[in-house]
Amino acid sequence: MSLAAKTAVVTGSTSGIGLAIARAFAKEGANIVINGFGDAATIEADRAALEKEFGVKAIYDSADMSKPEEITAMIANAEKTFGSVDILVNNAGIQFVSPIEDFPPEKFEQIIAINLASAFYTIRAAVLGMKARKWGRIINTASAHSLVASPFKSAYVTAKHGLAGLTKTVALELATFGITANCISPGYVWTPLVEKQIPDTMKARNMTKEQVMNDVLLAAQPTKQFVTVDELAALAVFLASDSAKQITGANISMDGGWTAA
Ligand code: NAD
Repeated sequence: MSLAAKTAVVTGSTSGIGLAIARAFAKEGANIVINGFGDAATIEADRAALEKEFGVKAIYDSADMSKPEEITAMIANAEKTFGSVDILVNNAGIQFVSPIEDFPPEKFEQIIAINLASAFYTIRAAVLGMKARKWGRIINTASAHSLVASPFKSAYVTAKHGLAGLTKTVALELATFGITANCISPGYVWTPLVEKQIPDTMKARNMTKEQVMNDVLLAAQPTKQFVTVDELAALAVFLASDSAKQITGANISMDGGWTAA
């Protein structure tokens, strides 16, 4: 499959899952807009690597996904630079864990803004062009937590369930325009974020690395294996293909069996 002449905007793509998805779309020939926070030199190196390794054009947009006006400007900037936004991946997300009675209201609002409302604003801005061209792919990184809950994650679970609902609504609205909208819902993914938690948890619980991985992190994941960012990126690429044009409004789990239980 070639996505040459297509443009993919991937929010939260300076790290982890988003970066892997951006690289996978670049490998298929799409021009890329990367977005997210982080060290400026690292971001520039990642952006330049997309161009060098895959022969595409890539720009970085620093839009803050909690700021609607910056989101709208990012989509406009992508359309101005590349002529279109054909693939939109809403992936930016943060987490905060606390009992609800102590959950800081500003953290709740921030998670709803970044993990849910940002997708409303990106889709709203990108859909006019997609409709005019009669082609579009909207892929939202949800989570196992869009289907099931865990305690102490009230904001995250609310946002991810909301994202699944937004995805279904948009899929119905756009069904006759050659545009699909789907969620990909990972379980635990092996990212630097997860890896860094292991030494501290080993100390705190007096456990071996294997015990931390199996009994703490992967307790809910029947395969007892992490999902990888490359497996998720391959799913995103498939959803952008013509073979996937009848998949819309779906919430596709890649969670080692977590939500089957
Ligand atoms: P990560 O922390 O490695 O990446 C998150 C990205 O979002 C980064 O690029 C970060 O800069 C960006 N970001 C954060 N706040 C932002 C803001 N206000 N504006 C713009 N960008 C912002 O995490 P990840 O594990 O790659 O997570 C990516 C997505 O996958 C998230 O939506 C997360 O909820 C979801 N997810 C992750 C896992 C997991 O186990 N890692 C599991 C299920 C779902």
